[in-house]
Amino acid sequence: MEQLSILGPPQPVRVSSALWEVWTQDSSVIERFESKRYRRRDNQCWPWLGAVSSTGHGSFRATSLPGHGRRGTVPAHLYAFQLANGPIAKFGWSRTDDLEVCHKCDSHGCTNPAHLRLGSSSENRTEWASRRGDPNGPLADIRGPAGRTRAIAEAVRYGLKHHESRELIDARIRTAELAGLPWTLW
Ligand SMILES: [Zn+2]
Repeated sequence: MEQLSILGPPQPVRVSSALWEVWTQDSSVIERFESKRYRRRDNQCWPWLGAVSSTGHGSFRATSLPGHGRRGTVPAHLYAFQLANGPIAKFGWSRTDDLEVCHKCDSHGCTNPAHLRLGSSSENRTEWASRRGDPNGPLADIRGPAGRTRAIAEAVRYGLKHHESRELIDARIRTAELAGLPWTLW
């Protein structure tokens, strides 16, 4: 279980729904968030271009809160989900089987709300463990989830910097995704 909590879904984040409400309605926060994600078509992953956590999830500083640590910094996919669907009441606050936002695409750095789904943490862990064995899936990436998220973000940033077409950036993302799969023949 220790291992799962490190490599699997992130630890629950305890932010009140009132704060989520503020952050997902504040246009300056939204604008900052959008500047760090690369939107594509609905059926594609939307890579996060900002800071990355050890679990490969995007890390978004919604605000600075008083106190120690990085209070006010939240996983980017949690922000993306609630920005699209509204704040989830009591999210992360129950003691037993908490609700979690998980990736249907298994790409932890993805912030496309269409790829995110709400489930219980035990459900999510079971699903994650069963898909982890797929040698062609994102979870098999030899760079680990954080390395994968960073490599994809780097590909997008390179393309944006050089004003490349969306098609070319799509191809760069695909190459970055495949580069970490154990079966890739280069
Ligand atoms: Zn995705």
